[in-house]
Amino acid sequence: MFPTDPSPWQASAACVGLSPSVVFARRPKDAAPALRACADCPVRRECETAVAPAESYFDGVCAGRLWRNGRPADSARVAKAVAQAGGRRRG
Ligand code: SF4
Repeated sequence: MFPTDPSPWQASAACVGLSPSVVFARRPKDAAPALRACADCPVRRECETAVAPAESYFDGVCAGRLWRNGRPADSARVAKAVAQAGGRRRG
């Protein structure tokens, strides 16, 4: 997810190695692998602080949520899409 000069916490991110098209996906089913990674990520707080999704009008996955234009996507719809994509979302 972090192509250049990552901060120390980014080295611990559970989404390291996932495609940017997954991490910055807009559709829940496309974001499912990143959302599953978030469930076990040890740096969720640091991620949310750094990205500040609401303030940055973020699109993609951050801290266990899918964001669109800085707003969290409907959690029930996201959970359903993640389950249908073959995984379970925790957290
Ligand atoms: S909380 Fe999710 S998006 Fe943020 S670094 Fe961890 S795995 Fe990646």
